[in-house]
Amino acid sequence: MADTTFRRILLKLSGEALMSDDQQFGHGRLGALADAVAETVGAGVQVGIVVGAGNIFRARSANLDVVQRVTADQVGMLGTVMNGAVVRDYLRAAGLAAQVFTPREIQPLSTAFRREDAVSLLACGGVAIFAGGTGNPYFTTDSAAALRALEIDADVLVKGTQVDGVYDRDPHEFADAVRFDTLTHREAVERQLKVMDLTAFTLCAEQALPILVFDIGNPNNLVELVRGAPLGTWIRTPVSSAEA
Ligand code: UDP
Repeated sequence: MADTTFRRILLKLSGEALMSDDQQFGHGRLGALADAVAETVGAGVQVGIVVGAGNIFRARSANLDVVQRVTADQVGMLGTVMNGAVVRDYLRAAGLAAQVFTPREIQPLSTAFRREDAVSLLACGGVAIFAGGTGNPYFTTDSAAALRALEIDADVLVKGTQVDGVYDRDPHEFADAVRFDTLTHREAVERQLKVMDLTAFTLCAEQALPILVFDIGNPNNLVELVRGAPLGTWIRTPVSSAEA
């Protein structure tokens, strides 16, 4: 029997979240993350994952005087596919059924995303890994996370970050920065808080998709969260006032 109020989550894992603190690139945190996802699924929660690529390639670090922005974005998206394949194997090693979905099929690594296939996998306790972003340049994997969360009808977009929630100011710069427990989407916009990029956030706000920001530095936080621990910052707007 499920010991959680969460039914289905979309977990956004940046490429950075996959690295351990001592790494510049790689997947040093992925073993612990896979164990945390296995425990989360064991608690009765369906988990879809969108992966980033910051541990492999950053478009903004490319020499854009030479490399076309579209090319850099395509390389970034390929990086997410590489990560997706590695995440899949770690999840399988943790005892889960896992499959990589991409906007278009990339044989033999991934199958083309079909909502019905992903939801069927989730309903059977498998983990759907969404790689390749949205399939389009000029977007980020945060946008892909918002999109896939809506498409699979997730309760919440759970965004793992390097800080333990959303602050009124950058907590790395300001010692007196204040962390929010909850915010509405509108408050986050009005206060110009950086929850995710604006394109992604706007989609979440328009659809009143709840977002939960938490510290993935300790992967066990994910397990604590789904068990109801008051970690991180919730951004949610009651549906009745979503258009306000
Ligand atoms: N990207 C893209 N379209 C998408 C998603 C990603 O072009 O729909 C590219 C973009 O260049 C981005 C890179 O892939 O910088 C990696 O994604 P992201 O920066 O979101 O990864 P993260 O920072 O979460 O690791």
